[in-house]
Amino acid sequence: MATQDLISLLRTSTVDFDFYEALYRHFHSQPELSYQEVQTAAKAASLLRSLKAGYEVQTSIGGHGLVGVLKNGAGKTVLLRADMDALPVKEDTGLDYASKVTMRDRDDIVKPVMHACGHDFHVTSLLAAAERLAKMKDSWSGTLIVLFQPNEERAGGAQAMVDDGLYDKIPVPDVVLGQHVMPRKTSYVGSRMGNIMSEADSFKITLYGRGGHGSMPHRTVDPVVMAVGVVTKLQTIVSREVDPDQFAVVTVGSLQAGQTENIISDRAEVRVNVRTQNHEVRNRVLASIRRIVKGECEASGATKEPLIEETTKFPLSVNDEAVTTEVHKSFEAFFGDLFDPNTPCSTASEDYSILGSSQGKPCCFWFFGGTDAKTWDDAEKNGRLAEDIPVNHSPFFAPVIQPTLATGIDALCLAALTFLKTS
Ligand SMILES: [Zn+2]
Ligand SMILES: [Zn+2]
Repeated sequence: MATQDLISLLRTSTVDFDFYEALYRHFHSQPELSYQEVQTAAKAASLLRSLKAGYEVQTSIGGHGLVGVLKNGAGKTVLLRADMDALPVKEDTGLDYASKVTMRDRDDIVKPVMHACGHDFHVTSLLAAAERLAKMKDSWSGTLIVLFQPNEERAGGAQAMVDDGLYDKIPVPDVVLGQHVMPRKTSYVGSRMGNIMSEADSFKITLYGRGGHGSMPHRTVDPVVMAVGVVTKLQTIVSREVDPDQFAVVTVGSLQAGQTENIISDRAEVRVNVRTQNHEVRNRVLASIRRIVKGECEASGATKEPLIEETTKFPLSVNDEAVTTEVHKSFEAFFGDLFDPNTPCSTASEDYSILGSSQGKPCCFWFFGGTDAKTWDDAEKNGRLAEDIPVNHSPFFAPVIQPTLATGIDALCLAALTFLKTS
């Protein structure tokens, strides 16, 4: 579709914003943890089924994943993806629709739950886009798939849907598209060619000492001292071993050992998260982690070899050149100067690209801003963006509903129509 035709077409169709804003507040106040997106999935399925356009809806794929397929004549097959899960974070936004929800997680521990990553925007935007694109179906041709993915945060949902026979149930898409709300000024849309989000590898590392009385350290091997040595030394990987021109992050997100003051524990557990954007750098960092952990255990007289277990893994997200060129043309024409085609590659990670890469199909992903314009401008003026703008996963993460929602819906519709040929 010619870009100008596409833009005029998009302007002819809209949705009831009051309805979708209320729906957003509903999802925000009723978040569900990864693996447990029961009500969110049920609501999405029932709304898709209620659209007169005739989406074929299939549920419970790879957990609570669901898809709606709208077959609308010859043409390309386009998959739009939203993730549904929330996080174990206690909401502190003070919003009148803030979450007060608690849930038992997979380890049976009760946790506060919050949509602190904005997946409620993704679900609501995709439902609205599904309705809006259906209303325009006389003006495009092809197959539209809207996919609601469970468990993005724990890195398993996309793979679980594929492993559960997703592509036996629905057509394989020609292109997979996704988006994420970010702490940028509202109306901002950013994308880039090539790497768009980092690869992530996480590990649980168990270090073994010999426990005993706190008053007799000479009769023990103290895993706390061993763990502190490991953590400190791990922080030299990025500063001393990685080429300064390359990107890498090594974060120790959890360090646990012991129960009380006067007992030396027999083990310590260190959880490490690594982000990279280049396979060679990744392999070097992972090898360094193993070398350092083994070396520190040896130096401390550990009672046995450390146990290094992979916990989660996200692939590198790469925006396909041909597909992204087309999406960028549409975004540039519609969003004008508000669209940034060279947004920095994010240090964050996503698993959505598995929906395409598992079938050898191209993907494109973009970001859209959710921070109130005045709040952003004030913070920027005062040089306080880092301090005053809550980021994803913060208890204060509170994107403004509009124009964030409108941007998310426009972007999804535009990107889909870019590939759905005119009748
Ligand atoms: Zn997240
Ligand atoms: Zn997220």
